[in-house]
Amino acid sequence: MSRLQKIVIVGGGTAGWVTAAMLGHHLQGRMAQIELVESDDIGTIGVGESTIPPFITLLRNLGIDEQHFIQATQASFKLGISFRDWLRKGESYFHPFGSIGGAIDIHEFFQCWLKAKLTENHPSNLQDFAPASVMAEKGRFMLPFKAQRTLIGGANYALHVDARLVAQYLRRFAEAKGVKRTEGIVTEVKTRPSDGFVEKLVLKTGEEVTGDLFIDCSGFRALLIEKTLGVGYHDWSDVLLCDRAVAVQTENRGATTPFTVAEAQDSGWRWRIPLQHRTGNGYVFSSKFISDEEATEVLLSKVDGELLTKPMVIPFKTGVRHRIWDKNVVSVGLASGFIEPLESTAIHLVYRAIDMLFRYMPDQDCAPALAAEYNRRMTADYEEIRDFIVLHYCVTEREDTPFWRAAKAITPPASLTERIELYRESGLMREGLDELFRNPSWQSVLDGMGVTPKRYDQLVDRMPFEVIRRTLDEAGPRLAAFVDTLPTHDEFLREHCPAE
Ligand code: FAD
Repeated sequence: MSRLQKIVIVGGGTAGWVTAAMLGHHLQGRMAQIELVESDDIGTIGVGESTIPPFITLLRNLGIDEQHFIQATQASFKLGISFRDWLRKGESYFHPFGSIGGAIDIHEFFQCWLKAKLTENHPSNLQDFAPASVMAEKGRFMLPFKAQRTLIGGANYALHVDARLVAQYLRRFAEAKGVKRTEGIVTEVKTRPSDGFVEKLVLKTGEEVTGDLFIDCSGFRALLIEKTLGVGYHDWSDVLLCDRAVAVQTENRGATTPFTVAEAQDSGWRWRIPLQHRTGNGYVFSSKFISDEEATEVLLSKVDGELLTKPMVIPFKTGVRHRIWDKNVVSVGLASGFIEPLESTAIHLVYRAIDMLFRYMPDQDCAPALAAEYNRRMTADYEEIRDFIVLHYCVTEREDTPFWRAAKAITPPASLTERIELYRESGLMREGLDELFRNPSWQSVLDGMGVTPKRYDQLVDRMPFEVIRRTLDEAGPRLAAFVDTLPTHDEFLREHCPAE
């Protein structure tokens, strides 16, 4: 069967240019052509500025110099997310990147800490032992891999980025790798009568763009996967109530925090993402409980710093396509599905989608078996993220507004209920080999949301309790003292990656 000769990418937002950069980098010289079609007139969504640690891996895999990337995109470092007012008003918790504590003897740190908590109500908090949480709380930063044999070696980090600058950066990168960019509005998509495969795009100018495989990165418009192939959509708005966001950029005020803030609001939640040159803000809300105007008013009353943009309202529908890959179209980014950005997972799903495509790269016939396995794995990723996000809502104690009463009353997906029950009964986590969120992430949110296990892993009883107590008594203060010696996040940025 003949190999692919040409891949066409429709759309030049973050999804389009990440796709182009990855395909250009890995297929350069092996594929006749990669072409990206985008329209400046239509523009991009322009939000999507908080990432998770695999984003750093993406940069490394592309051979991009991290320091240069940070300078060019005015990025800042992110050690995790500070969740405020989610369990109850006035309560907050932190979801850090990286590990929490080190094994005590051969036992998982979490189980040791849990034993101390359950048996003698040890005064420490789980996050006292998470290097990323302690750095975030103190507003300090150091690259963990540069401090590997120190107490912060287990931390991990991601970036806050300027979406527009990232797209520009990756465009330069991809074009240097031979990706062809065509400016124009796609007005028609022609399919082959014999099998329904997409054959070509027709642009407003009349120009035609043909290809063997089409990557639909056209955002919520989903030009190929939905408008042309009509694959359908799993709507998850029964478990995730938010369906709109309003976003605005402001001038920076105060120190640049090395974390994203996600603060619960009366009818949703508000994000704050600090970059070197400005701050991104938004209110994600449910239109059943608050109007666009009211949500905008609430957001504007809470941001600090002068407004740099007009507030922009973005409607969305939570869910995922029935088939992310259908015939010779693979949808990536917003075209494939969307889950509210509470854990900053959407950009991750973009490079995950292309990584997965490399694994199941088809020939020109796009064998259905490859698409089926690709769809199974990508859908599993979406479902895992959906469950993780639902967890942030369904165990809340808030009942102070109609939105929170509705969120609390939701019946979570069975897959999530099973996870929560396992944790409640035993303190154990269900962890698959290929899952994005590892034990420390689930434990941080479960613990932060006040879910307490009935017991700890009994294997820990093999170790004298005194060893656990002594370790806990000493480790937290030692970590805090070490973090006090690190530069502040702003000092680190100024010294190592000042904006270009
Ligand atoms: P877009 O940016 O919408 O790009 C679509 C592209 O298709 C554009 O180039 C457009 O010109 C082109 N196009 C469309 N129609 C045509 C046509 N007819 N002809 C030619 N070109 C066309 N993700 C995160 O990881 N972290 C976050 O913090 C985060 N926050 C978010 C907040 C909100 C409110 C929303 C809605 C999303 C957020 N996301 C976040 C998701 C993130 O923004 C997207 O995953 C990411 O930007 C990719 O978008 P995209 O490229 O798929 O779509």
